[in-house]
Amino acid sequence: MQIYRTSFAFRNREYPIGSGKALQFIYGSKQAKTKGGLTATTATTNVYRSEQFKHTMEDIRSQCCSPDEVIFGPDCRQSLYCHLLCGLICSDEVQIVSSTFAHSLVHAFRTFEQVWEELCRDIREGVLSSRVTVPAMRAAVSKLLSPNPGLADSIHSKCSRLSDWCGVIPELWPNAKYVYGIMTGSMEPYLNKLRHYAGGLPLMSADYGSSEGWIGANVNPSLPPEQATFAVLPNIGYYEFIPLERPEARPVGLTQVEVGKQYEVVVTNFSGLYRYRLGDIVRIAGFRNSTPELQFVCRSGLTLSINIDKNTEKDLQLAVEAAGRLLAEERLEVVDFTSHVDASTEIGHYVVFWELCSEAAEGVLRGCCNRMDLSFVDAGYVGSRKAGAIGALELRVVRRGTFQQISDHYIRLGGAMSQFKTPRYVAASNAEVWQILCGNVTACYFSTAYSL
Ligand code: AMP
Repeated sequence: MQIYRTSFAFRNREYPIGSGKALQFIYGSKQAKTKGGLTATTATTNVYRSEQFKHTMEDIRSQCCSPDEVIFGPDCRQSLYCHLLCGLICSDEVQIVSSTFAHSLVHAFRTFEQVWEELCRDIREGVLSSRVTVPAMRAAVSKLLSPNPGLADSIHSKCSRLSDWCGVIPELWPNAKYVYGIMTGSMEPYLNKLRHYAGGLPLMSADYGSSEGWIGANVNPSLPPEQATFAVLPNIGYYEFIPLERPEARPVGLTQVEVGKQYEVVVTNFSGLYRYRLGDIVRIAGFRNSTPELQFVCRSGLTLSINIDKNTEKDLQLAVEAAGRLLAEERLEVVDFTSHVDASTEIGHYVVFWELCSEAAEGVLRGCCNRMDLSFVDAGYVGSRKAGAIGALELRVVRRGTFQQISDHYIRLGGAMSQFKTPRYVAASNAEVWQILCGNVTACYFSTAYSL
């Protein structure tokens, strides 16, 4: 709550808001009881369920448009539909459009493109769509709904006028001041699409935290998300930093980090009960009032590697981005992506899975596959490709909706939609996700980049 308030203070200085509401795409997840009788759930669910959350949201003028029955509904798809509906009903009051991670925002508006006419119908007739079947959610949202043909017509005509949904957020929520959520790290690939939906509205990257402990606040909210930094709040946890260049060295303290260097973050929570390696790499961008400002670099976990090659999540992201520029020329885009190392044959190769917004011509995809292969510039990879010690990169295109199936899978296991991050590497041992991917492949292409 403290970090929410701190970053709001900085945000409000740049973009002041009056009293109003927030269209927040937030979702609680399942709760379970441990053998000892404790309630176990995800961090965001604990936050949303706490009494303090409501008070904090009121204080920082970010009260959610949707009732609790929507936030804590058992079916995220129904909750998303209701969030959109509640947001439209209070469209004049909405000043902030937000979610925890940018992925949920993009997912929400991609869904809006599919369901907007149904939403208009609900508002026109004052009757909730039959797709919402959870009784408590139906009852709570129906209470907010009454026939409003004027609003329905206005939404309908605004949507019909938009070109490819560009600027849909400011069009439908004319008093929104900004779009807010975590947009750094593995959320960067969604920024293009989010900018498209946000039109001229500023995108503001939210704070840096984790279930294990919050870390830093974005105290320069006017910087574009690509340049966002996070000032560590030293009173909310105990932080240590493992130098990336000397992982065997002892971790250094908060004031001993050096500007420009990269570290892995270790957090010890309030109670001192655990000390946890987050698996995140950060760069020290500078100091502010003696506390370091961190720039998120990437997760340390994913490394595509076959022999001497080594590519991180960031390298994968850059390769997909480079190939994505070829798609943009065709007005196409990558909805989501992940990767895999196929070592089942004598000479292993990288596999990249893509979900596209619509069908692409074979020639374009072949070009993208080659571009990705050439975009992994790590010397170990390039050398091995030239020497034939790593096989041709393979692009596998999957059906529309595949990545939604993957997120549904994690949510069924008790994960939180609000915390969902697409896994950027999937091993065959992750059997269910692997099957979802392989069962949805519609086309495969092998790079010819190094055989020319
Ligand atoms: P969770 O595992 O769901 O608790 O999410 C925590 C992880 O999300 C962190 O360890 C980071 O990898 C990622 N994360 C959280 N905040 C940010 C941020 N502002 N920028 C980039 N990644 C973030």
